[in-house]
Amino acid sequence: MQIHLSDITDSEGKHIQLQPELELDKISFQMGDYPILEKTPVELEITNTGNKVLELKGIGSVTVGIPCDRCLEQVAVKIPYEIEQKLDMKKSDTERVQDLDENDYLTGMDLDVDRLVYLEVLMSWPLKVLCREDCKGICSRCGKNLNKGSCGCAEEPKDPRMAAISDIFSKFKEV
Ligand SMILES: [Zn+2]
Ligand SMILES: [Zn+2]
Repeated sequence: MQIHLSDITDSEGKHIQLQPELELDKISFQMGDYPILEKTPVELEITNTGNKVLELKGIGSVTVGIPCDRCLEQVAVKIPYEIEQKLDMKKSDTERVQDLDENDYLTGMDLDVDRLVYLEVLMSWPLKVLCREDCKGICSRCGKNLNKGSCGCAEEPKDPRMAAISDIFSKFKEV
């Protein structure tokens, strides 16, 4: 959702509260596309602190479907975020780029709330995702999800002589 900021930029001391709905339905970056399963509206406050500077504060959360690091089953991960930004509305878009202000959620007087939330969610992206603490992962041989039962593949033997015996054993089992 886009919020037009010219009214509040022109009235010093003004404070508004908004609850914009997110249009965002997935989080995409180099690692892939992750669907947003649930989202709260953003509780957003904008204050004109004077001299055409706006202070943005917001909270909310999104629940994103992320594959488990071990078994790859989708896990619903709730990612809360907090927004705290100062926007100097005196600057033009070109000046912002020159100042390396990476405010690409702000174009002229239009604030792109989805983009802002997207960036905040990326910053809070979980480093590790497990469907459960003791997830057994997938079999490195057949790819079966071992949380759903064992697959019957033999453990990887370390001794080559054992490997030969193990091969005979697994052939025997297939019959
Ligand atoms: Zn898992
Ligand atoms: Zn297996």
